[in-house]
Amino acid sequence: MQDEANVKILLALKGFALWSTFDLCRQYLKGCCASGLNEALLAKEEFKGEVHTYSPAFKEDEIDKIIEISNHVVFNSFAQYKKYKQKAIGKTSCGLRVNPEYSSVEVDLYNPCAPYSRLGITKANFQENELDGIDGLHFHALCEQNVDALEGALANFEKNFGQYLPSMKWVNFGGGHHITRADYDVEGLISLLKVFKKRYPHLEVYLEPGEAVGWQTGVLMATVLDVIDNGMPLAILDTSAEAHMPDTLAMPYRAAIRGAGLPNEKKYTYRLGGNTCLAGDIIGDYSFDEPLKAGDKIILEDMIHYTMVKTTTFNGINLPSIVLLKENDCYQIVRNFGYNDYKGRLS
Ligand SMILES: *Cc1c(COP(=O)(O)O)cnc(C)c1O
Repeated sequence: MQDEANVKILLALKGFALWSTFDLCRQYLKGCCASGLNEALLAKEEFKGEVHTYSPAFKEDEIDKIIEISNHVVFNSFAQYKKYKQKAIGKTSCGLRVNPEYSSVEVDLYNPCAPYSRLGITKANFQENELDGIDGLHFHALCEQNVDALEGALANFEKNFGQYLPSMKWVNFGGGHHITRADYDVEGLISLLKVFKKRYPHLEVYLEPGEAVGWQTGVLMATVLDVIDNGMPLAILDTSAEAHMPDTLAMPYRAAIRGAGLPNEKKYTYRLGGNTCLAGDIIGDYSFDEPLKAGDKIILEDMIHYTMVKTTTFNGINLPSIVLLKENDCYQIVRNFGYNDYKGRLS
């Protein structure tokens, strides 16, 4: 895609920060999109490509380092830009995040263009006389979407901000492009980008998906610890919806489990719960061909993107080990966690 459409694709660390795989990612992607100092440092140290940093608001004690190590710094308001422009101009390429006010994400938790969104400058708040030193515009309006959604967001972006593009050097289409999903219209995206680049041949175009990089690259392996009954059979796992896969509760969504079906679809139905004391730490109701028993393995599919980056040690539960499956079916345990990781983040 990058070759055909002549665009650059970055990895958004927010969705996928498994840095032990960055040697592989680096073969395809041009760098990282970071959301603050820690992600920018990780990008610099471990990815070693371009570093593009955007934050809803930069902190005074972090901005100098961010400017030093970032190729692009994207500001979320004119106030932030004015505050830091003297430091930034000449040292990094400055951009502004705009809000195209195009809502196609149904869940507000994941909709950057929802009403009262704090993410990006709206047309009404755009100060066209304050663009001195600004090289680029950035918008991020999608979540797990296909080309049709980008088309809509891009149309609004151009309608509201297109008049400023002739004086820009680059434009960043953000993330949320589900480009690695089997039904994603890759050819459609390439032609959309080509048409856009025809209109603005002077612009460098960036995309920065996170989720699509980790999409369907791995599982969360859990073990049944106990099976009990309270009006229905309940299985307690050595993982946790709250601590290890919070999107199952926040989105909410139903994780796919290998070999399991919907409740009552197979002979034995269980409510799967986590090993914390939170009453609502429930992964969901699933049915199995055989009764579950302590020691059984439960394989939760597609648990890399936005999962590993969100794990916590809530309730003292251990973080899941990080294991790489190699081509020849060998496993490499890259990280085990224990008491010191729990203790070390508290004091
Ligand atoms: C979250 C985010 C991304 C990545 O989005 P995905 O849905 O993971 O592709 C890219 N850019 C910005 C500014 C983001 O906040």
